[in-house]
Amino acid sequence: MSRIVAIGECMVEMASKDADTYRMGFAGDTMNTAWYLRRLLDQADTVEYFTAVGTDALSDRMVTFLQDAGLETDHILRRPDVSVGLYTIQLQEGERSFSYWRGQSAARSLAQDERALISVLTHADMAYFSGITLAILPENDRNTLLQVLADFRKKGAKVIFDPNLRPKLWEDEETMRRVVMEAASVSDMVLPSHEDEALWFGDADPAATAARYADHGSSWVIVKNGAGQILAWENGNLSLHDPVAVSEVIDTTAAGDSFNAGFIASWITGASVAGAIQSGAGLAAQVVQSRGALVNLR
Ligand code: AMP
Repeated sequence: MSRIVAIGECMVEMASKDADTYRMGFAGDTMNTAWYLRRLLDQADTVEYFTAVGTDALSDRMVTFLQDAGLETDHILRRPDVSVGLYTIQLQEGERSFSYWRGQSAARSLAQDERALISVLTHADMAYFSGITLAILPENDRNTLLQVLADFRKKGAKVIFDPNLRPKLWEDEETMRRVVMEAASVSDMVLPSHEDEALWFGDADPAATAARYADHGSSWVIVKNGAGQILAWENGNLSLHDPVAVSEVIDTTAAGDSFNAGFIASWITGASVAGAIQSGAGLAAQVVQSRGALVNLR
């Protein structure tokens, strides 16, 4: 029986259907992973989502959505003066373009109160967070979250981190690089995507990405690489694994998030790293062959 807490921001997604109509949904990197984890894990396991939302009707709808997905929401913080972040997806000549309203979102205050973080992790075995979780926080709160996670790990629990590098969300690239490496140093497992890492850290290949995170103390580094081979670093042993072949890529949204869920769900149940990678790649292959972040599993 496992209890996993995913920490981050869930947003309202408004996807344009035609010129005048939008379909409302909910998405966000850590929430996507939690959503898939809930579908993959045994009912005896608990997947909790931790964030901060407002007290308005839209925030209520988000929490109801999370609950309907089977996620535990008991510790979600409520902020009376702010609401949840929102983004739109517009189709422009066949290409999707995104606009964001998240600068004032309630989720930015999720790590304001150390006691709330300690409380949500009290009975958990595993915490999952990302570079986006950190990017949206004020500097003091980033430190609070990392300290709470470091203490959580000292008690024998596992911390899993996806760097999910999004420089636009950070005050500057240097801060992003520094804080992401600090996050790796409190994490047991890091799940980066090589394409982003090469771009922002200058890694020559996936082995360089793995070595950089492993040097900061992670026991497991699983480097995703789009359609390329997945590289695993497991306590000093390197191995390469083929992704699951895909006939037609329709939408790569949440490829990495779903891979992480497939990997973690399998790993929790005692699978080898090779087996867990196959599960992650299998789920990601289904997700990239459908439109949207949250795909009903076959
Ligand atoms: P990424 O974050 O883009 O590296 O992708 C995460 C995971 O999604 C990869 O490790 C693959 O398992 C899967 N994936 C992404 N793009 C493709 C693709 N074109 N073909 C097959 N699998 C893919």
